[in-house]
Amino acid sequence: MYSIAIDGPAGAGKSTIAKAIAEDIGFIYVDTGAMYRAIALYFLRKGIDGHDRKLVAAECPNIHVTLEYDEEGKQQVILNGENVTGYIRKEEVGKMASVTSDVPEVRAALLVLQRDMAQTSDILMDGSDIGTNVLPDASLKIYLTASVKVRAMRRYKELQEKGKASSLNVIEQDIEDRDYRDMHREHSPLKQAEDAILVDSSQMTVDEVANAIINLARERGLGD
Ligand code: C5P
Repeated sequence: MYSIAIDGPAGAGKSTIAKAIAEDIGFIYVDTGAMYRAIALYFLRKGIDGHDRKLVAAECPNIHVTLEYDEEGKQQVILNGENVTGYIRKEEVGKMASVTSDVPEVRAALLVLQRDMAQTSDILMDGSDIGTNVLPDASLKIYLTASVKVRAMRRYKELQEKGKASSLNVIEQDIEDRDYRDMHREHSPLKQAEDAILVDSSQMTVDEVANAIINLARERGLGD
């Protein structure tokens, strides 16, 4: 089995790009952020404070997250039997995910599932610790990033298109806070693996980034 790891900070365009690449080369796309988000949703719904690490750890045995793929091959996230794919993209869920993802019990539960998936299919997995921790032997590792300003502007435009009011300053601050939490968490912090290739998408379009990574994959004989 072959695997591609794409790590990077929130808002760098990982999932859009990862989906396009996976489709092109015929790999299964695994969005690990969605798994952390599903767990975060569980805590939000229960009204549990994500910073209460003891309580978060104690709840872990009650949380079961799995991934399924629909007829179109789109990933569906299942939380305790319920398809929660439509509920996990909100800002508050992402924030909560970034807090609860530092609890070792949360990471341990998902690690098993993530490694299992790589045993059974050719996968392209994106997240924050895939190249460093989940799949240290991945066939290709990419660290995808973009400046805070560019990421904030992309998010701002995305929200504008959806007709949602937002402030660029608030988004920028949120991104900085999330970066800080993800890069400084105690367990498997976000960082570039030594053997990962750095791709800075600040001045690149989605297609340019996807094509650059597809070329790197093909150079290594990956994909159909
Ligand atoms: O990528 P996404 O924004 O969906 O990830 C949400 C949060 O989940 C991240 O900010 C990070 O804290 C956490 N995460 C993680 N490890 C991963 C993927 C995501 O800790 N492999």
